[in-house]
Amino acid sequence: MHLSRFPRVRLGHFPTPLEPMPALSRALGGPNLFIKRDDCTGLGTGGNKTRKLEFLMGEAVQQGAEIVVTQGAVQTNHGRQTAAAAARLGLKCEILLERRVREPESGYEVQGNVLLDRLFGATLSFHEPGDMNARALARTEALRREGRKAYFIPGGGSNPVGALGYVDCAVELLKQANDLGLRIDYLVHATGSTGTQAGLLAGLEGMNTGIPVLGISVRNPKAQQEQAVHALAQATAEHVGVKGGIDRARVVAFSDYVGDGYGVPTPGMVEAVALTARSEGILLDPVYSGKGMAGLIDLVRKGFFGRDDNVVFLHTGGAAALFAYANLFTRP
Ligand SMILES: *Cc1c(COP(=O)(O)O)cnc(C)c1O
Repeated sequence: MHLSRFPRVRLGHFPTPLEPMPALSRALGGPNLFIKRDDCTGLGTGGNKTRKLEFLMGEAVQQGAEIVVTQGAVQTNHGRQTAAAAARLGLKCEILLERRVREPESGYEVQGNVLLDRLFGATLSFHEPGDMNARALARTEALRREGRKAYFIPGGGSNPVGALGYVDCAVELLKQANDLGLRIDYLVHATGSTGTQAGLLAGLEGMNTGIPVLGISVRNPKAQQEQAVHALAQATAEHVGVKGGIDRARVVAFSDYVGDGYGVPTPGMVEAVALTARSEGILLDPVYSGKGMAGLIDLVRKGFFGRDDNVVFLHTGGAAALFAYANLFTRP
């Protein structure tokens, strides 16, 4: 896996820390929980999209782009990190925002990530639910017809180029574990547009680790999510040159923690966000990492893991969205 063959720009602070969570492990009665702090990538309050953007923006710069176009839900963390990366590189940025969450709180369309998108100078437009990648691609093509050098980034930065960021994360994580003498039994994280899990699977497969990756879906049903992760993992493995592809049986996603839908709060998420804040002083988010941690907590309580297993939670970021869900956390 020779990642330096691919165009790349440096945007984040790496390696991100790999730390134990002793108080949360104690509160749950084991296993040994660790956290990989990809919320600390440093770009525009950080998060998992920074790793993908190093490769996507690398390609954009190589192609001479002057503007990037992408899309996401109104509180997209991907859009916010893309806006920050574009600002850093002197590119313009347009983000198409989908009104995906029904009945959001009052500040939802101005607070949190939306506020930061604007601060980074991005141009925003709001859209009713639909095929957002098709709309963003059509916008990219319209800009090209005007003679602008526009680069399209799919929602979540999830394609074989963006997923290289998580191939790289797999390499980084394994080196940290080896240096610490830490045997990783499971890796757990929130999965949405699939690039994170796909890249991790391709990278871990390329290093023959066999470490199981458990995706906690924040939107799609299990079969649909696993199929989408598998398709991108295969394409990423091929892009990076991992031989033999990804066994379908290695792709595992749980969809029991979505609740009423993408971005809609659940009691498990609220508990997970509060418990992680109060035991470890770590901020999760209501849409992704909070539901991911709710999944991890439930799996612990159900006895899914052995008591002495070492389980790493990949913190994918997102805390900027907390401010668009202020009413959830106002109780003492
Ligand atoms: C985008 C995102 C995810 C999901 O990652 P995918 O690569 O889209 O599956 C998880 N957590 C946060 C905070 C995110 O912004």
